[in-house]
Amino acid sequence: MDLLKKMILDKGHVIDENILKVDSFINHQVDSKLMEEIGLEFYNYFKKVNITKVFTIESSGIAPALMTSYNLNVPMIILKKQTSSILNDDIYQTQVKSFTKNTTYNLTLSKEYISKDDQILIIDDFLANGEAAKGAIELVENAGAKVVGIGIVIEKSFQPGRKFLDDLGYDVYSLARIKSLKENKIKFVD
Ligand code: 5GP
Repeated sequence: MDLLKKMILDKGHVIDENILKVDSFINHQVDSKLMEEIGLEFYNYFKKVNITKVFTIESSGIAPALMTSYNLNVPMIILKKQTSSILNDDIYQTQVKSFTKNTTYNLTLSKEYISKDDQILIIDDFLANGEAAKGAIELVENAGAKVVGIGIVIEKSFQPGRKFLDDLGYDVYSLARIKSLKENKIKFVD
């Protein structure tokens, strides 16, 4: 997606060869026009499948997921990050390792917002090792529902997440694919 790539090049900051900061348009300040385009792009790609709900992980996935769910005319569900595990029959929960914080959190979904007939599109801001996506998939599968697509705003293709999801057979659509962040330079996959 050209606008996204341009904004990454103009406004992204390489923190080190593994982390890209996009606080000025995605993660802290949010560019709403960019989000509108992202929502349309995901809609155009995933409209071929029957999607009943869009799932995302709080908090940075919310803006792109909301725009996508708006275009698909389906609800968006925010998977919550809880610091401790909760013993409760009304929720599904799974542990996820955070890429940026080197901690774990308990990804949590209320059983109220999913049923076995649901066809879920997962949207997130970044794909690195695939831990967040794996956690979201687990919650959907615990409910007996199906993940029918995964939309990623920025994929760091040099990290293992993409291959992990491809190997599991998921339809992954990433709007910008980064080949390398080495030497303070952002290089995209051709
Ligand atoms: P994964 O679970 O795939 O290892 O990492 C994805 C999650 O970690 C995303 O939800 C995102 O919040 C965060 N993340 C991973 N890499 C980056 C990065 O380079 N920059 C930012 N801002 N967040 C990242």
